[in-house]
Amino acid sequence: QAKQQGGAEICFYSKNINSNLQERLELETDLHNALNNNEFQLYYQPKVDLLSKRVVGAEALLRWIHPQKGFISPEQFIPLAEETGLILKIGDWVLNDACHQAALWHRSDMSDIKVSVNVSGQQFKESGYIEHVNRALKRSDLPPSLLMLEMTESLAMDNVETSIELLNGLKQQGVGLSIDDFGTGYSSLSYLKRFPLDELKVDRSFITGIPENEEEAQIVQAIIAMAKALRLSVVIEGVETEAQLNLLQLTQSDLIQGYYFSKPLKADQFEAYARTMNDEVPESVY
Ligand code: C2E
Ligand code: MG
Ligand code: MG
Ligand code: MG
Repeated sequence: QAKQQGGAEICFYSKNINSNLQERLELETDLHNALNNNEFQLYYQPKVDLLSKRVVGAEALLRWIHPQKGFISPEQFIPLAEETGLILKIGDWVLNDACHQAALWHRSDMSDIKVSVNVSGQQFKESGYIEHVNRALKRSDLPPSLLMLEMTESLAMDNVETSIELLNGLKQQGVGLSIDDFGTGYSSLSYLKRFPLDELKVDRSFITGIPENEEEAQIVQAIIAMAKALRLSVVIEGVETEAQLNLLQLTQSDLIQGYYFSKPLKADQFEAYARTMNDEVPESVY
């Protein structure tokens, strides 16, 4: 009897594996068509200046609205896009769409809003990546200083010498460079110093426990101090509560990005949000 049960279990598991594989294959096929079918959309999450509370930038975050399955998280499809190489085309679309949007904002009354774009490892390693960036800037007529590229620290550390060369090339074009999810990888300080960076984003995982967790609060303080010593602008990701914000007020961090201020928004919603936040209150006349 036990043997029979075992057999049934094995059968059950392998069916499961098959259906997972099936689902994956389906998703992969659908991902191939997603660009042509206009199923991607960029959302923009505000980056807010800690002192002035002004919206100074936006991170472009990719959304896939699948015709049957609905919303699929980037955590799910970006890895698939990377494995299949589709990320090159998708990434180029993201870059162009984000530059186009940033240029529209630049020509409107939101002329200083910087837009950040996430760069995947494959894009970064693709020969001619700098050309892709240049083309997107030219097409949209966006001043390079209004585009920021985010790469994770593990990506930058993967091949340090190549990264330095590439980052220097990008820096020469005038775009901003940012290290994403900082603290989750294994960067060494001496390398960070050699990268021509502008910004460091402290990973959300360091923020979740503060202010209650004193150890975590101290780690965040130490990361901020280190980033400041390297003359980097510091963004704290994943700030959700007022208590977290209050603790961060006491630090030298520069920008806050998190649900406390806003979730990622559609472009027009972002515009409305930035206008409200940045509208200077006229001095009252008595
Ligand atoms: P990321 O670049 O670190 O982006 C920040 C993620 O944290 C976003 O998730 C954002 O919605 C989420 N987040 C922001 N504030 C909070 C908060 O207060 N609480 C919580 N719980 N979450 C917060 P999202 O949009 O799901 O993106 C996940 C990841 O997918 C991104 O992490 C990035 O690595 C990747 N990704 C998104 N769009 C692109 C893209 O266009 N290209 C590439 N290569 N990767 C992308
Ligand atoms: Mg990012
Ligand atoms: Mg991040
Ligand atoms: Mg992340």
